[in-house]
Amino acid sequence: MYLHGTSKINSKGHLEIGGNDVTDLKAKFGTPLYIVDEDLVRLRCREYVAAFRESGLTFQVAYASKAFCTMAMCRLADEEGLSLDVVSDGELYTALQAGFPAHRIHFHGNNKTVEEIEMAIDAKIGCFVVDNFIELHLLNAIAAEKGQRVNVLLRVTPGVEAHTHEYISTGQTDSKFGFDIGNGSAFEAVRVASDLASLELLGVHSHIGSQIFEVEGFQMAVERVAQFAIRVRNELNVAFKVVNLGGGFGIRYVEGDTPLLVSQYVKAITDAVKTHFAGLGDILPEIWVEPGRSIVGDAGTTLYTVGTSKDIPGVRKYVAVDGGMTDNPRPALYDSKYEAMLANRANEENIETVSIAGKCCESGDMLIWDLELPKVISGDLLAVACTGAYNYAMASNYNRIRRPSVVFVKDGQADVVVQRESFDNIVGNDVIPERMKKVAVTQ
Ligand SMILES: *Cc1c(COP(=O)(O)O)cnc(C)c1O
Repeated sequence: MYLHGTSKINSKGHLEIGGNDVTDLKAKFGTPLYIVDEDLVRLRCREYVAAFRESGLTFQVAYASKAFCTMAMCRLADEEGLSLDVVSDGELYTALQAGFPAHRIHFHGNNKTVEEIEMAIDAKIGCFVVDNFIELHLLNAIAAEKGQRVNVLLRVTPGVEAHTHEYISTGQTDSKFGFDIGNGSAFEAVRVASDLASLELLGVHSHIGSQIFEVEGFQMAVERVAQFAIRVRNELNVAFKVVNLGGGFGIRYVEGDTPLLVSQYVKAITDAVKTHFAGLGDILPEIWVEPGRSIVGDAGTTLYTVGTSKDIPGVRKYVAVDGGMTDNPRPALYDSKYEAMLANRANEENIETVSIAGKCCESGDMLIWDLELPKVISGDLLAVACTGAYNYAMASNYNRIRRPSVVFVKDGQADVVVQRESFDNIVGNDVIPERMKKVAVTQ
């Protein structure tokens, strides 16, 4: 398994992250356990900020909180000077409860409810990323009613297809998201938005996909958005102050994944901006990006305890852990691949090929197929790398399994940032109708 960030093998042959031996973390917090390497998250934040500073452009780096949204993570993003994307009232609430400055919060989503819009306007967030005409008019009406003027970006689809899994592509024309540039809908949206009195049109937003390794998709999107900006300026006399180029920067999950450095993605984008927006004169728009996965993904490790196994001679050996699709649904959803290691016997040679199963009642609840490991026994610790993004965020209570805790580790310290769910949490929202209540039977 590739060792990310502060992960290393210590003298006892145990995996250590943020100066914490994972066997100690298991003793203290139990398993499954999400472990987040805080230094690595901060390093990623700083890489984005440094690369933009280097470019000389005005910028905002917004952490796409949907990748991993907890109050501690919102605090960290604030401390690192990032802005924050939210896509629901729950994420907005989390950010506000964490004291995240509202003016640096951007609200996304293709179907924001009236309640969400009201909540966000009342909180005085920085910007709405408007997805469609219904939302444009709704937002304008609600803002007018509240006597406020709100900043908006228009989400446009530039018609760029990023090379990635089909389900996580959003930049092509056939997408549920945004106003299409190619069919004229984006142009019409600019015309409408700039006429709506309670909206301040800041510019446009484009997000072409996720887990992208190449820069060409981003460069093409910049070019299309720049051509669009020039047309809008010439024909509607509207200038974009902000161009948001989304997220989607890839990370290394497994061997063969070839992400670029953060600095390389940012340089490709800012260079493309300088080239393609030159036609607008000497004032370049402010550039925003929205990394999610590449901020938190490789900093996360999930620690499991091995339980049962089933060896089918000549077929395969299944090894089951005490979590699965409830804490990591990505293999089942996207066929995502992960690397893992025996964290308590990290120096031992790999001698068997096993497939890691979860404990849910689904044959599809498999975490990793055909993993090389030392001889695995019940009670071993299995560490799965790169689980920082879209794992806790997508976790469920299927089979009424309690969601694990999340700890931030750093310099030998380990702090719980999300507690493990309790049985009270599991039944806390359940209600038994009066007529079904169990009455004490006396005989
Ligand atoms: C999901 C999403 C992001 C973040 O994507 P990553 O692949 O996690 O970097 C950014 N912007 C928008 C609009 C998104 O939907």
